[in-house]
Amino acid sequence: MNAVADIRSDAQVTHVDVLIVGAGISGIGSAFHLQDQCPQMSYAVLEMKDTFGGTWETHKYPGVRSDSDLYTFGYRFKPWIGPPIATAQEILAYMGEVIEENGIGEHIRYGHRIRSCSFSRESDLWTVVATRNSDGADVTFTCNFLWMCSGYYDHETPYIPDWKGLDDYKGQFVHAQLWDPATDYAGKRVLVIGSGATAATVLPEFAKSAAHVTMLQRSPTYFFCHPNQNELADRLREIGVDEPTVHRVVRQQIMHDQDMLTKRCIEEPDAVFEELKELIRAYAGEDFEFEPHFTPKYRVWQQRLAFCPDGDVFQAVKAGKASVVTDTIDRFTEKGVLTASGEEIEADIIVAATGFNLSVMGNMDVTVDGETIDWHDTLTYRGMMFTGVPNMVWVMGYFRASWTLRVDMMGDFVCHLLRHMRENGASRVEVSPPGGAGAMQLGPWIDPDNFNPGYLKRGMDRMPMAGDRPEWRHTQDYWSERDDFPKIDLAGPEFRYTGEHAAQREPEVA
Ligand SMILES: Cc1cc2nc3c(=O)[nH]c(=O)nc-3n(C[C@H](O)[C@H](O)[C@H](O)COP(=O)(O)OP(=O)(O)OC[C@H]3O[C@@H](n4cnc5c(N)ncnc54)[C@H](O)[C@@H]3O)c2cc1C
Repeated sequence: MNAVADIRSDAQVTHVDVLIVGAGISGIGSAFHLQDQCPQMSYAVLEMKDTFGGTWETHKYPGVRSDSDLYTFGYRFKPWIGPPIATAQEILAYMGEVIEENGIGEHIRYGHRIRSCSFSRESDLWTVVATRNSDGADVTFTCNFLWMCSGYYDHETPYIPDWKGLDDYKGQFVHAQLWDPATDYAGKRVLVIGSGATAATVLPEFAKSAAHVTMLQRSPTYFFCHPNQNELADRLREIGVDEPTVHRVVRQQIMHDQDMLTKRCIEEPDAVFEELKELIRAYAGEDFEFEPHFTPKYRVWQQRLAFCPDGDVFQAVKAGKASVVTDTIDRFTEKGVLTASGEEIEADIIVAATGFNLSVMGNMDVTVDGETIDWHDTLTYRGMMFTGVPNMVWVMGYFRASWTLRVDMMGDFVCHLLRHMRENGASRVEVSPPGGAGAMQLGPWIDPDNFNPGYLKRGMDRMPMAGDRPEWRHTQDYWSERDDFPKIDLAGPEFRYTGEHAAQREPEVA
């Protein structure tokens, strides 16, 4: 059983083998894998909030829910029992059970905001300084390995475009990320600015009691309408199959279907769009007009499809409770928003669903041997390790498939790596491309043609670089990584180990 955080603790410094940053779905999953696969290692989880959940705790707007199914967004080790799309509360309850059932809670230090992490190649240790929320004191931890599960966006400061005249608006303005659940919107005119998953979630929820909801979007999104049920899961349960088997089989089915869909989106995007339209018509009616609000400009695989359980967005539009405007904002007015084409949309409440500000490594200062790391100067090994930064991984899940599939997969990889280091007496691992980075064509972290949400476009110059060889790319391709990850050769030339007993290898040219 893993030792609790204070295995070596004095008044000033707490030492653990592994420090996990963040108690969101990645941090909790990673803690499980570490306990399960490296039971001899001590660890702690540092979380700046006062509770677990990350994304699912931060967002409190009406109807907040997943847009992935929980058979794949849930962990592979904990069966999901319920409809595929889950509310934030249901996801939090699921995570709570994982924490409870596995004794993870005693390892978590809530209310600890990490400010800085510094690695020393002399000691092969990270020194991590966190500010404790309860008394503002700085607390210091040391660890051999840093497992970054800090997510990808700033939880406190959402992205609000620099709109003209925002101060002139006399109604209530809020970003969806900062929504206060006590807000009363019954009988009010609500304007939602933005498209995508958040806007698609709040629109039908507001429509239930608001006077009217308008969604003002700059450009349309692809919607995938489907009932919130999985027929295979229902059938397997009906014939008495146990829940772990249902979970495993349904995961397999969903991943297979998604793989097929992704391939088809690339090979025959127009045919897929026609099918998506057909699903929409089932809720919106045969004569539903797709132009101009539901015909996206980007290709169908470039961003996550917005899931629409039971066609709820289209039901609200059809019932006249909601409408869509596709236009840009000229400026805010006292009463609402004036669009570029001259229409004034009046509203009592304006909700910005305009996305995130990217957060690279939880916005903390990272230094190695006293040098500040500029992440854009680093090169990524498979989107998880970085040149010049020893003993660290960053968990970045999938954007098109469920995020958590990669949490489980990286859990296996990291535990394998940690065991390999221990078995070989290595206290440090670094990655570097054989022949040096100069031997490769460098490109952005994620190919913008492959995936291009606003927060990444705005923040790409703060993100690590990728190379043109498979190991040095961040493909975001679950199906190829699923096959490649288990075959990673930890004795391969990309890995350089150092330590008392480690087989010393001459460093490659950086
Ligand atoms: C509304 C919404 C819905 C989504 N729905 C889906 C979906 O259906 N399917 C899907 O695959 N993905 C979805 N995503 C993407 C989603 O963010 C991820 O799937 C996943 O929840 C991210 O988990 P995480 O633990 O990696 O990061 P987060 O949930 O962001 O958690 C990171 C944690 O790290 C903590 N932290 C950060 N910095 C520090 C620091 N310096 N010190 C201490 N603690 C720190 C944060 O407080 C937070 O608790 C959604 C995102 C949003 C915003």
